[in-house]
Amino acid sequence: MPPTATLEDIKAHQQRVEKNKITPDNLPPCSRCSVESVFFKIHAYRERRFLIIIEMLINTVYCSLVRFGCPGCGKTFTHYPDFAIPHKHYTRQTIEGFSRTYVENDQKTYQDAVTINDAVPERAVSGRTLAPSSIHRWIGTLAALIRANQDALKKWLQEKCAVQLCSHLSSIQITEKKYKTSSRRHCLLRCRWFFKIQAVLKIQFSPSLR
Ligand SMILES: [Zn+2]
Repeated sequence: MPPTATLEDIKAHQQRVEKNKITPDNLPPCSRCSVESVFFKIHAYRERRFLIIIEMLINTVYCSLVRFGCPGCGKTFTHYPDFAIPHKHYTRQTIEGFSRTYVENDQKTYQDAVTINDAVPERAVSGRTLAPSSIHRWIGTLAALIRANQDALKKWLQEKCAVQLCSHLSSIQITEKKYKTSSRRHCLLRCRWFFKIQAVLKIQFSPSLR
């Protein structure tokens, strides 16, 4: 089964939106004026298109995301449910699952990574298949999450005294077959760190880390 959020996950979020159950508490403080997110007010609802994979078919599902406004300065912030990654239509499970298949297996090509039991997921309407280049981009997205939060993560690792994890991260190698430039090598490394940190610390990269 391809990794994906399910229709039930998305419907459950939509119901929480409709019942006014989405709160701003887990957002970081306002990046402009530092007001704590608990004081944010609902600003707007925005319909977002998500792509989920059901029995190898990529289906479109719509769901509302909540935008909160800071009462101090008016800046707005989107609340992302667990299955959403900013600016991505595919769900977190899909992005993480396919990326992981590629980065954690030295032998896999991008084409191998999109292939499940000799088939590639395809759009229910157009028949267009999931492109290997999507995995290439998603790895960049996950690596960027690590890069953007590098300082916070370092502090966090120190506080958790995660010495073993740090030495494990520094021992990870990327096979030369997987990159042509050193920037891509770093990108692949950060993506592998992403999965290692997530597994060991049992964290989701929550909106505060996005
Ligand atoms: Zn503000």
